[in-house]
Amino acid sequence: LKQVSKIYKSGERTLTVLDNIHFSIAAQSTLSIVGPSGSGKTTLLGLCAGLDRSTSGTVELHGTKLNGLNEDQLAAVRNRYVGFIFQNFQLLPTLTALENVMVPLELRGEKNIRPRALDLLDKVGLAERSHHYPTQLSGGEQQRVSLARAFSNQPRILFADEPTGNLDAETSEKVVKLLFDLNREAGTTLVLVTHDLDLAAKTQRIIQIKGGKIVE
Ligand code: ATP
Repeated sequence: LKQVSKIYKSGERTLTVLDNIHFSIAAQSTLSIVGPSGSGKTTLLGLCAGLDRSTSGTVELHGTKLNGLNEDQLAAVRNRYVGFIFQNFQLLPTLTALENVMVPLELRGEKNIRPRALDLLDKVGLAERSHHYPTQLSGGEQQRVSLARAFSNQPRILFADEPTGNLDAETSEKVVKLLFDLNREAGTTLVLVTHDLDLAAKTQRIIQIKGGKIVE
């Protein structure tokens, strides 16, 4: 990110949520973003992942400048490189757990996707819940489906917004292990937003933001 700002406008009022953010993330490294509630962490993650656009400055992902891309091009970059775990899961309510995990594979036009999606659900300990719909799953289970979905297109970079926020200690430990295994074994770059400083301490770098600025 180079001199990135994000400003929301509503009528006469403007809100600067990110102010001149400048940093880079080395491929295959791990990084966490910490800071108080409302400091701009989720917004920052969304900009890095190409889910949202900056008001000014440039965002580059694997050599591609995201600013000039249209929506289709941006979606293609995301499908190719990015996995995202949302704070509120964002599972598709009319699809089963298995079908949710199959979506990124379908979007990439891959074959033999059902057994692969099932294998991913098995990895997060949810093989026996594969035919459940999101409303039939607990919060922690939905989080794990969301994780399996984010892994499914073998992303080069995985963004996770509060990946352990809704999990009990035991499940949280499992999820953290899955994330760091992915980094170690597949070289997936890992970028986490978290309030959990013990989790942040496990990453190689920590960026602390406050009021839309990097303070440390
Ligand atoms: P939390 O830890 O509570 O999840 P956060 O650090 O992730 O917070 P963001 O979700 O990035 O914070 O929000 C930063 C600020 O931007 C907040 O003040 C929020 O109200 C504001 N904001 C976020 N999205 C919008 C939007 N679409 N329109 C206007 N303001 C927004």
